[in-house]
Amino acid sequence: MTQSIPSEFLEIDRKSRARTTCDGISIRTPEERVGDFDDVVIPLNAECAQVAASRCIHCPDPAACVLACPTHNDIPSAMWLIEQGEFLEAAKLYRQTSSLPEICSRVCPHEQLCEGACVVGKSGDSILTGALETFVIDYQREVEGYQIPVGSPTGKKVAIIGAGPAGVSCAEQLVQQGHSVTIFEALPAGGGLLTYGIPNFKLPKEVVFTAVHDLEKAGVQFEYGVFIGKDKTIDDLFAEGYQAVFIGVGSQVDAPLKAEGVDLPGVHLATEFLIRTNVSGSLLPEHMKEPLDVGEKVVVIGGGDTASDSLRSALRLGAKEVTCLYRRTLKEMPGGEKDRELAIEEGAQYKFLTQPIKFIAGDDGRLAAVECLEMELGEPDESGRRRPVKIEGSNFIVEADTAVLALGYWPDETIGKTTPGLETHDWGLITTDAETGATSRPGVFAGGDAATGPDLVVTAMVAGRKAAWAIDKYLNSK
Ligand SMILES: Cc1cc2nc3c(=O)[nH]c(=O)nc-3n(C[C@H](O)[C@H](O)[C@H](O)COP(=O)(O)OP(=O)(O)OC[C@H]3O[C@@H](n4cnc5c(N)ncnc54)[C@H](O)[C@@H]3O)c2cc1C
Repeated sequence: MTQSIPSEFLEIDRKSRARTTCDGISIRTPEERVGDFDDVVIPLNAECAQVAASRCIHCPDPAACVLACPTHNDIPSAMWLIEQGEFLEAAKLYRQTSSLPEICSRVCPHEQLCEGACVVGKSGDSILTGALETFVIDYQREVEGYQIPVGSPTGKKVAIIGAGPAGVSCAEQLVQQGHSVTIFEALPAGGGLLTYGIPNFKLPKEVVFTAVHDLEKAGVQFEYGVFIGKDKTIDDLFAEGYQAVFIGVGSQVDAPLKAEGVDLPGVHLATEFLIRTNVSGSLLPEHMKEPLDVGEKVVVIGGGDTASDSLRSALRLGAKEVTCLYRRTLKEMPGGEKDRELAIEEGAQYKFLTQPIKFIAGDDGRLAAVECLEMELGEPDESGRRRPVKIEGSNFIVEADTAVLALGYWPDETIGKTTPGLETHDWGLITTDAETGATSRPGVFAGGDAATGPDLVVTAMVAGRKAAWAIDKYLNSK
């Protein structure tokens, strides 16, 4: 796996490397960063990058970081190249195994993947694999630009549904095999949740649009504002001459909360809240164009990454008191620790063992308060986490001008219902072969959140790449 490291180098003194100090990633101060929606991370410079990479002790093959990376980036070789100042070579290495290195390097939960597995990290700070990948990919863009290498035309046409990480990664591989690709996307711009979900302070939009632009330059056609299953069906796509279809529609329906007053003005679903907060007007769907006024007190209900993103967005909109209401405790929270720590630094507060039961209007008819119940933890449920149990009579009121419901996501059933022979399960997730993305319908492949339920950008990217290889094989066999 480790391709580029000379064998004599492997006689290194691992201990002294691991003892090398490095300042880590610099993050803008909380006071400064809540004043805008810009990236919170200050990019590494070349000198810091070389020192940071030189801490890698080059574990014997297969290194734990490579195994923990869903796309198996050759991280030790990249670290070696960065240490030597061979930044362009390192960028090329990442591009061999990743379709979206500039994005995954920024938004992967590295502490749970490569950096979590890093052996140096067992007794100190992990190697900064994410920030170093961002550094070399940005360096490549600046110094020599990047073009997707396009294969010789095969004359075969593939339709991709959804321009999220799964769809665009599938397209990125298919054009390299010479196939003609059209992406049908319901929204006005590409990127899926990278654009219409993940906030700018974690992932600047221009990074996403640059990746989409790479595909346009490579000949991928984008048809925006087309909802497959409503405007046309998968059968229509085959009738139009597409020989294979990839479904990458994600799992984007906000889970509802059944509570009185949930429809009051001032109560928002997290996706709508994040889109209206983080996406510029021209790229917003018509029904989301009205600007948001969140007032002074915002509550966010839920405990995952979407909740952290909503808390941090509310603080940037000027709310003075931003509180997460979560029905379990910190220990059971599903969201990443890194994002939660940043939210706390920026001023978010957490109220645990709290279940909202009623949204209450003020005299103006808008949300004014949320009635909640205190909870206690019972026996573990099917997820293994202790079940929250209501304490009857413990009702209390939390004042709020805005409430954001960040309770998780469900799949959309439309594609399953409008595609004969396409097997689905669990309210619309598409049944696939995990290795190839093949579905029960010949010529139709699927991957990403549409098949797994809500997961990660990197896992959606890997699914899109694997499906592209299977589609290529399928087309060649016809
Ligand atoms: C707020 C938020 C923050 C997140 N933060 C992170 C993070 O920091 N790190 C991380 O790794 N993951 C994060 N995730 C998860 C990650 O964004 C998803 O796992 C990933 O985007 C899934 O990719 P996908 O391509 O499967 O689907 P999506 O990104 O959901 O893209 C699907 C696309 O299909 C389009 N579409 C849907 N139905 C149709 C249709 N019928 N016809 C045409 N187009 C259609 C949609 O408009 C969308 O553009 C976050 C998710 C959310 C909601």
